Amino acid sequence: MKLSIAVALATMALKFGAWWLTGSVGLLSDAMESVVNLAGAGFGLMMVTLAAQPPDAEHPYGHHKAEYFSGGFEGLLIVIAALAIIGTAVQRLLSPQPLEAVGIGLALSIVSAVFNGVLAWSMVREARRSRSMALQADGRHLFTDVWTTVGVVLGVTAVQITGWLWLDPVIAIAVAANIAREGGLLVWHSADGLMDHALEPEVRQQIDRTLEEFAHQAIRFDHVVTRRAGTRRFVDMHMHMPAGWTLGRAAAVRGSVEQALMSAVPGLRASIQLLPLDVEAHFGDSKDLI
Ligand SMILES: [Zn+2]
Repeated sequence: MKLSIAVALATMALKFGAWWLTGSVGLLSDAMESVVNLAGAGFGLMMVTLAAQPPDAEHPYGHHKAEYFSGGFEGLLIVIAALAIIGTAVQRLLSPQPLEAVGIGLALSIVSAVFNGVLAWSMVREARRSRSMALQADGRHLFTDVWTTVGVVLGVTAVQITGWLWLDPVIAIAVAANIAREGGLLVWHSADGLMDHALEPEVRQQIDRTLEEFAHQAIRFDHVVTRRAGTRRFVDMHMHMPAGWTLGRAAAVRGSVEQALMSAVPGLRASIQLLPLDVEAHFGDSKDLI
């Protein structure tokens, strides 16, 4: 983690140096992407720490949704950065400027790409070893950054060879459009998460299979609804049983259903409402009955 922040700072400095020397907006867009990544990683780390906080009196269900807030904020930052780059690039299209010190500028960019590439490669390798999804996603993302830098370097080289100054802002706009797309997706996924998304279909199937093991003539499950909050998973359901059963017997079955669900789906929190077979409970809104 510390290593990746150090590399991010170093590549950022190299890329800004490259932009400052050459005046290329293409290189500026590449540098902005690094800033966005670093800001996002820092903010994400902060929010993951917050999401891991145990429940307290004011947040009895925990702080799991903090992670969506982080994603949404990060996405918004990315979109703003991309729009700023597009604005600069359009200005440059209208009044083209020659690039300077292209040789040194590109050398700095290539060094930064090599740093990023080595880091990305070691992250993906470590992710494979530890089977960490988050690390793998970070490593893959870093690889796309390397390709962005390669594209920008090739573009600036082409500007130098052909003398087509318009090519530089056009490259910047293409890079910025891709950055904006990334940001937009992040905002979309975060908003979706905040709206209590159902559990993944395969997890839901696992829950249904577990319930089927307990369901027989005397026991019926219905109103099974699921939701996800960050890494936490929730399921609510009714468990209908004969009205004549003692509370002790009903509670014993409820307990074993809860145990089976928790061992089938790690991190699941089940709320099971006990009801007689011929009585139904309602939420007060006919539309939320499933
Ligand atoms: Zn019911």
